[in-house]
Amino acid sequence: MSPGPFKNGCVTYRGHFDFHCQAPDGVEIKHFYYVEIFIPLNFPRELPKVWELKEEIPRDGKHHTNYDGSLCLGSPIRVLKQLNINPTLLGFAKNCLTPFLYTITRQIQRGDGFISGELDHGEPGIVDDYQSLFNLKTKKQVLSLLHLLSMKKREANKKPCPCLCGQRLGKCTLRFKVNNIRKMAARSWFRRHSLNPGGGM
Ligand SMILES: [Zn+2]
Repeated sequence: MSPGPFKNGCVTYRGHFDFHCQAPDGVEIKHFYYVEIFIPLNFPRELPKVWELKEEIPRDGKHHTNYDGSLCLGSPIRVLKQLNINPTLLGFAKNCLTPFLYTITRQIQRGDGFISGELDHGEPGIVDDYQSLFNLKTKKQVLSLLHLLSMKKREANKKPCPCLCGQRLGKCTLRFKVNNIRKMAARSWFRRHSLNPGGGM
């Protein structure tokens, strides 16, 4: 991979991304893709975007690409959590990009399904995933949670908790999860996400 031009406020890298990965079931995949990675200036508080440039990965929801053609590595908050295991570019490559490429390559080469469970593409999958991540039951609760993440912590804590416990967020144990996630990205990032949850981040 080598550095490319500065585009859309991002540092770009382009080249072959090699990976070699084995799932717990023993299936090993070694492959490379020709990709371009856009790294926002405030990385790791904002997620990079990755394009696969040779169209080896079909551009459709089934293969998890976004409307702009970038790869949909997972629900944004889930990817943010994965990134925060090691919030560096190497960490992103290892914990976010490689698992996605492994799974998608396995699907293309062998017709295998997603091992760790696959989300529906787009907003329904993201809402489902956040329901399980935050223990919520409805889409309305998820949207309210995303809205609270886009607010200042002090103000959000005064609002009714999205888990419908009847308390303010600041009194419910859900605040620990929310505060943990809140630290990982800028409020503007959560705002953009809350305004268009299925839009890809
Ligand atoms: Zn609550």
